[in-house]
Amino acid sequence: MTHKALIGIGSNLGLAAENCEKAISFLNNSESLQVTAHSSLYQSEPVGKKDQPWFVNGAVEVSTSLNPEQLLQHLLNIENQFGRKRKGKWGPRIIDLDILDYDGKIFNSETLTLPHPEMTQRRFVLEPLSEIAGSTIHPLEKKTILDLLKELPQKPLVKKLDAS
Ligand code: ATP
Ligand code: CA
Ligand code: CA
Repeated sequence: MTHKALIGIGSNLGLAAENCEKAISFLNNSESLQVTAHSSLYQSEPVGKKDQPWFVNGAVEVSTSLNPEQLLQHLLNIENQFGRKRKGKWGPRIIDLDILDYDGKIFNSETLTLPHPEMTQRRFVLEPLSEIAGSTIHPLEKKTILDLLKELPQKPLVKKLDAS
């Protein structure tokens, strides 16, 4: 049985765009998961902690046989392969992989919340996501990703990266 998940990618340390692209190829390298669509990459102004480099963000759709907890563990393993050190929420990171949505499931455990609770407030998530899942209905808001994006303010800024 395969499942469809939407994953948000972010980086603001080192070569951030390359890190995001490398993460996508790492994702695709697994037998239990295939990347079925990916967005362009965007540059985004840091939210919360402002004194850090701009982020590069993207989103991918995957088809996977992993269950949600297995998928989360898989993403954390990939983050570890990049040598990510957790230095508190919102700090600089070499790679961040979040499950935004998994089959439209609503789920809450100590380690995993679905859909990702902050996604509706984040232009840096919804802007790339709208490219690959604009008509997907958010399971709690009952609105499309594109409609949720339209409701967000322009700031903090999110701009398409030229090269992607
Ligand atoms: P945010 O969740 O606000 O984007 P963050 O990505 O910086 O913050 P992390 O330090 O990367 O937070 O993750 C902390 C923990 O969040 C993870 O270890 C994981 O257990 C938990 N988590 C809960 N829901 C999710 C989800 N949907 N996707 C990824 N991690 C999640
Ligand atoms: Ca995150
Ligand atoms: Ca995360």
